[in-house]
Amino acid sequence: MSEKKGLFGRNLRFEHRKRPFFGLVSYLQLSPKIEAMDMSIILVSLIFLGISLLVSGRLKAKFSQYSQLPIANGMSGKEIAEQMLRDNGIYDVKVVSVKGFLSDHYNPMDKTVNLSPEVYGGTSIASAAVAAHECGHAVQHANAYSWLMMRSKLVPFVQFSSSIVQWVLLVGVLMINTFPMLLLGGIILFALTTLFSVITLPVEFDASNRALSWLNNRGILVQREQEGAKDALKWAAMTYVVAALASVATLVQYVLIFLNGSRNDD
Ligand SMILES: [Zn+2]
Repeated sequence: MSEKKGLFGRNLRFEHRKRPFFGLVSYLQLSPKIEAMDMSIILVSLIFLGISLLVSGRLKAKFSQYSQLPIANGMSGKEIAEQMLRDNGIYDVKVVSVKGFLSDHYNPMDKTVNLSPEVYGGTSIASAAVAAHECGHAVQHANAYSWLMMRSKLVPFVQFSSSIVQWVLLVGVLMINTFPMLLLGGIILFALTTLFSVITLPVEFDASNRALSWLNNRGILVQREQEGAKDALKWAAMTYVVAALASVATLVQYVLIFLNGSRNDD
């Protein structure tokens, strides 16, 4: 559901998970002083990894469930998307089909609503919910919705940060006694990605709210279908909430390492 990589995620969440485990082990061995702190980072990462797997499993189950429930009016995801765009006075956004499962997203660069084959051609509660949600992002873009604008501005910085942040943090922790500023730099980079995942929350909730209120007002779905759409989108949003919480928790851990290391230095 992000404008970059799609409904279920795969964007800039959980970067800390990509840190090679051997890296963690090596700096644990090299820095016994902050070992306890590092163990808590691993613990926090594992807890959030577990929660994240649970939530995304739940989301996939919900999606499969609602994919099998056809809507009464028989509109496909493509038709619903085009209708919602028109109703919002948007005529310069194209609705296209993209490969992949749950790969749906809105691309503000070329103004396309990209729907996975199941959503594009599907006539289920899930396809209606997802199609309308992605159009919610197109409506945000057309209205210059402030959180979306802010999020888009952050993208290049976050892409840069994501490419190096784990190495800066790793070396920063190793060198905390000789060059603590490096860890501070890593924390600032990581804080950018945390900010990004937090700003993603209002963007995602707002897109779903726009989708649900349009589906409701336009009478696209009957009551029972409307509730299903709400449920499916709720679980999609949950994956973003977990990602943001994980990022905040990891950031706090690094800040504590920094403060702890600085104190030990004195
Ligand atoms: Zn979204």
